[in-house]
Amino acid sequence: MTAFTNDNTDSYRYLGYKVVVPLSVRLILFLLLFPVWVNGQTAHYYFGTLHAHSGYSDGNKDSLVSGCSTPLADFEYAKGSQQMDFLGISEHNHLGAGMHKADYFKGIAEANLANVDGDFVCLYGMEWGEIASGGHLIIYGVDSLIGWDNGNYHIYNAQEDYTGLFAKLASRPNAFCYFAHPQTGDYNDLIGTVAYNAVSDKAIVGSPFRSGPAFSLDTTFSDPSSGNYLSKWFKALAKGYHLGMCLDHDTHNTVFGRSQMGRTAIIADTLTQASVLDAYHQMRMYATDDWNTEVTFSANGHVMGSVVDAQGIPTISVGVADPDLEEVASITLYYGVPGSGLTPTVLSSNTDSLSLTYTHTIEQDSTFYYYAKIVQADGDQIYTSPIWYTRDDYAAIAEPKQQGVKGLSVLPNPNAGTFVLRFETALPQSFPLEVFNCLGECVYRESLDNVVGSFAKLVSLDGLAKGVYVLKVGDGMVRWVVE
Ligand SMILES: [Zn+2]
Ligand SMILES: [Zn+2]
Repeated sequence: MTAFTNDNTDSYRYLGYKVVVPLSVRLILFLLLFPVWVNGQTAHYYFGTLHAHSGYSDGNKDSLVSGCSTPLADFEYAKGSQQMDFLGISEHNHLGAGMHKADYFKGIAEANLANVDGDFVCLYGMEWGEIASGGHLIIYGVDSLIGWDNGNYHIYNAQEDYTGLFAKLASRPNAFCYFAHPQTGDYNDLIGTVAYNAVSDKAIVGSPFRSGPAFSLDTTFSDPSSGNYLSKWFKALAKGYHLGMCLDHDTHNTVFGRSQMGRTAIIADTLTQASVLDAYHQMRMYATDDWNTEVTFSANGHVMGSVVDAQGIPTISVGVADPDLEEVASITLYYGVPGSGLTPTVLSSNTDSLSLTYTHTIEQDSTFYYYAKIVQADGDQIYTSPIWYTRDDYAAIAEPKQQGVKGLSVLPNPNAGTFVLRFETALPQSFPLEVFNCLGECVYRESLDNVVGSFAKLVSLDGLAKGVYVLKVGDGMVRWVVE
């Protein structure tokens, strides 16, 4: 681990010069680049994986050397791994891989014992199925073992009945699953010739960018994350499934979090068992080869993972911040049509920039999904979960889930172009004030700088045609009528 010790000072190349950047300046730069809020609170990024195994199934294969064979020991080990905020142990669910149902409750109890909200989250779930009999699924949010072996389950589900399994999961409000390492024909041929199934879609939240190497013994973060399951994800998206992006280690030895730097990143306001599960459930996650890069991805303020019907055309924003100030080689924005059967294509891209913004002119009632791929200068790749956006100009204005602006108001409303703008924000920040017409075109923009606390300002925007507008400040939105 010495190779990854953090100094308080780093040096970078800038225009050919070697520049030494003290930690304090890096932190300030970082904060300036990345103010994001969820529900009015500071959004945080947490890094980890939900795919690993302990000695309760077929993990801890090195237990004679490591001395670790239980989930409790494994969670304690993972707490010492760098850039790890959460670990889920997803035990195989069947006898053939060593799983006994009594150990399932023990595993949950050990996760709860090891869990420290705000510091390191420990979760216990299962990896369901056999590779040769329909494929592996990672399942969380179920407090019972789902299985088929005689007497070795709390909830029965026939071994090859994935459609029935998805229905069981969809009927439980906290349960979800995602593909472990999908192969053609898996899950009752879900992404093959079988018709789209909305119930299955409700149960499944993701697909991995990468998974493994499952039997790595490396503890120096240097065993490159293997596999690439993007083609399966594209097929699922093309069928109309709503799946986010994750990256897993599938750990079978005592190397939890240390075999590689790849991580699943989640966006949440706090670090708790519930907030991690909720982030996966809402697909507020992305797959990253880099262990701490923070990515924002939104469309008209709706964050990654959102499925929205909203007024006007979407303006899609990507922002990248790496606390280590690693450079971005490229940002590419992709789009596709759910249910079209077609793979996604490039909508916009740029190089050597930390952000990308693109306004997509789309027709009323049309639906697209969008996601971003980021490549860092060292070749590390990042894939965001998509946003599914349906333009519905008759929709009520949907409040974005993520906002730094509270109580945005225009008084009086309607007005003739002169009004008092009010809102509140928790921390000092600069916000764009933007006005969009009913076509989603931005007709006015200014920057409100260094706002903190309660903000009020008299605004006069003369010359706007009578009609309905959407006024946005940061991620706050209000409908405004000019008469
Ligand atoms: Zn597996
Ligand atoms: Zn596994």
